[in-house]
Amino acid sequence: MSNLLRPDNFDNIIGQEEIINNLKISVASANKRNDVLQHCLFYGNAGLGKTTIARALANELGIDIQIANGASLSTNRDVLPYLMKLKEGSILFIDEIHRVNKKVQEYLLTVIEDFRLDIVIPAGKKDFGETITIDLPKFCLVGATTEMGDLVQPFLDRFKLKHFMRFYSSDELLLMLKGNSSKLKVNISEEGLNVIAKASRGTPRIANSFLEWVRDYQIANNLQGLEKEQVTTAIKMQGIDENGLNPIDRDYLSVLEKLSKESPVGVNTLCSALSLDKNTIEQKIEPWLIQQGYISKTPKGRILVEKDTKDAPTLADFFT
Ligand code: ADP
Repeated sequence: MSNLLRPDNFDNIIGQEEIINNLKISVASANKRNDVLQHCLFYGNAGLGKTTIARALANELGIDIQIANGASLSTNRDVLPYLMKLKEGSILFIDEIHRVNKKVQEYLLTVIEDFRLDIVIPAGKKDFGETITIDLPKFCLVGATTEMGDLVQPFLDRFKLKHFMRFYSSDELLLMLKGNSSKLKVNISEEGLNVIAKASRGTPRIANSFLEWVRDYQIANNLQGLEKEQVTTAIKMQGIDENGLNPIDRDYLSVLEKLSKESPVGVNTLCSALSLDKNTIEQKIEPWLIQQGYISKTPKGRILVEKDTKDAPTLADFFT
């Protein structure tokens, strides 16, 4: 995703007002106390803006940010280069922090609590080895995760500020798309942008991808501009149906419909029926279907919810 579309300060961020307002308080207090921001965790689905807000936070504080990915931190040694580059007050942002090896999460406890690093020098032939301690500058660890439950509890407890990202409303996505269509120089009607907003599962990253896709569609077809009908056709080409559901959502719902006739369905049954892993089902497919009221999770398993289609306008409304 082009950096051009990433807002770089709080005022340009659309939605997530509660989080931004809370962060403004934390930033103002840290500045007035001349102290470093407390460790902070963002939890929420992919593409909702965790990295965007972390970068904006660094800009607001006027400090350095280093970016690491949890998947690449499998040994203590992997975190050292980041720790060595820390400056007083700077941010270390770890995306997918739940993927940091559990032993490394435990190693980081004293690092983020006492700003102290213990390095064990292995024993040689002639000595017994030793532990050296290095004092680190006080810094702020910012984590982003889609699976908070995978963090070891003491590590999770060290994040004093926890922020839960929510899905965006269609109006928020529409506002974002209006700004981004000018940045990308796509000539598209408001109704066309509305089709994209409805199809984007409340997620800015998806909305921006669709916007780039309809831009490509416009260029490839030598169109002067894009109206609702052309946008609808372009979005349908991506496999998105009139309710904004993708092919995997549709498979999920049809399998659940068949299997849940007798009783609620467990996740493992869905995994076998759909040939998908548990993580994909629980983290990628279900949150949006639950949020939209298609399914419900009960203690006994998943059930299909009779959805009242009169509730809210869907993509179908744009086809008529
Ligand atoms: P995450 O880290 O949660 O996976 P990102 O921060 O990478 O999500 O967001 C994906 C893209 O969506 C960003 O590049 C940015 O263009 C856009 N985006 C995310 N949140 C917002 C927002 N609140 N306002 C405007 N654009 C946003």
